[in-house]
Amino acid sequence: MNDQIIKKMQQIVGNEWVVTDTDKVSSYCEDETEKAMKPKVCTDCVVVKPANTEEISQIIKYANDQKLTVVARGGGTSLSGAAVTIMPSIIISMERMNKIIEVDESSLTVECEAGATLLDIVELFNQHDSLYFPIHPGDEGAQVGGMIVMNAGGVRAVRYGVMREQVKGLEVVLPTGEIIYLGGKLIKNNAGLDLKNLIIGSEGILGIVTKATLALKPKDKYSGSLLVSFNDESDAVKAVTEIFKNGIKPLAIEYMEKSSILRAAEDIGMTWPSSVGNVDLYFIVSERKEDDLYEMYEMIVGICEENNAIESFVAESTKEQRTLLEIRSHVYPSMQKNLVDAIDAAVPIKNLAKYMQGISKIATKYNVEISTIGHIGDGNMHNSIQTEDAQKPENYDNLADEIFKLVVECEGAITGEHGIGKVRNDKLKIQFSEKELSLMKAIKNVFDPNNILNPGTAL
Ligand SMILES: Cc1cc2nc3c(=O)[nH]c(=O)nc-3n(C[C@H](O)[C@H](O)[C@H](O)COP(=O)(O)OP(=O)(O)OC[C@H]3O[C@@H](n4cnc5c(N)ncnc54)[C@H](O)[C@@H]3O)c2cc1C
Repeated sequence: MNDQIIKKMQQIVGNEWVVTDTDKVSSYCEDETEKAMKPKVCTDCVVVKPANTEEISQIIKYANDQKLTVVARGGGTSLSGAAVTIMPSIIISMERMNKIIEVDESSLTVECEAGATLLDIVELFNQHDSLYFPIHPGDEGAQVGGMIVMNAGGVRAVRYGVMREQVKGLEVVLPTGEIIYLGGKLIKNNAGLDLKNLIIGSEGILGIVTKATLALKPKDKYSGSLLVSFNDESDAVKAVTEIFKNGIKPLAIEYMEKSSILRAAEDIGMTWPSSVGNVDLYFIVSERKEDDLYEMYEMIVGICEENNAIESFVAESTKEQRTLLEIRSHVYPSMQKNLVDAIDAAVPIKNLAKYMQGISKIATKYNVEISTIGHIGDGNMHNSIQTEDAQKPENYDNLADEIFKLVVECEGAITGEHGIGKVRNDKLKIQFSEKELSLMKAIKNVFDPNNILNPGTAL
């Protein structure tokens, strides 16, 4: 990286907050995307660690004047290559901007800097009597800013929605260096076009989020987990539809192919409490009153039995609940050595059975293993494509195209939470018309006329 750029960065943030050492810089150039899918990484970068919004504004103004590429860096947990640097770049690491500014109990909000991690937030509210932050994508190293621009989801979206539903206000540095403030603690706000909702889910290409005000939820006193096994995947899907129809809203409903969950348990030397059937539904339930919790168990089991469930298991003790969660969390790591790609399409629940049958046919046609686990409660399934050596098969592009066409046929979206990043750009045209894509590109151009912010991402 050019010396002049490094000197300018040192002037803005101070020498000790500019990283140029090649090994250290490299660790900021990648994210958690599977090896077979990861774009070619460029490490000719400088890492800058600003202390505040004003410093970010100065860095961006300079980069925009000089037409230099800038990539914001959160926790680096993206699974779609969004945080990977593919050209010489100034990497703005948000790690020093991690303060929790205010918990406002009367507005049920928390205000924090964008570099606060999910772990910081979880730990803060573990100590709180009555409030918590409900969104939990799988990796607690993710930062608030990253979660906002990736519109993170996770297992609890069934009851509380995704990140978009939690973001009340934002402070953003635009790609031209100006600072803007969007939203606030309001419940109703109809003034002007909704720029806040454009930034949420923008994958870091429209601005750098520096502060956020997020909604909190009251804590439930009682919680538990319930596991129900089925022979047939379409019975499991039907049961979920019936559960919603009956007004039941668990915190999470996860769908798991038995073979994947048993493999994950074996991998970490634990035992999954059910060995019968081909698929499991894993419910996490929480209620304010103990009686309501038991009533919910009964209703869920009743509906599942009406839909041919073959076994159910209630995890009442904290130890049993932790075991289920630990094994569920290990499904993804247990596939790593064979994993080529994890497609995270979302389809309306009514079309899930059709989608899963289509996936099975595609797996047979291309002779690959595709295992399905995912957040069935919001229709966001994760199809993990695996081969013996974790390399893409030769015809991989055709295989992926067939899956995405199936998604669109099922009225779905080609990604439900991981985003387009730098790995699915060429698939957007399967879901969107030329007009829709040209509108998205025009919006990027209005925000970022010199295309300095994370080019090659999201579009
Ligand atoms: C094991 C595991 C499980 C996961 N499970 C889920 C899941 O269930 N649901 C889910 O939604 N996700 C999941 N993820 C994905 C991941 O956690 C999210 O994408 C996360 O929201 C990214 O946050 P980050 O801070 O790590 O961002 P990074 O990976 O650092 O960056 C991602 C993108 O955000 C941009 N960015 C980062 N910070 C800012 C900022 N302050 N302003 C503007 N742009 C910024 C970057 O430039 C990049 O484009 C999982 C990841 C892992 C590793």
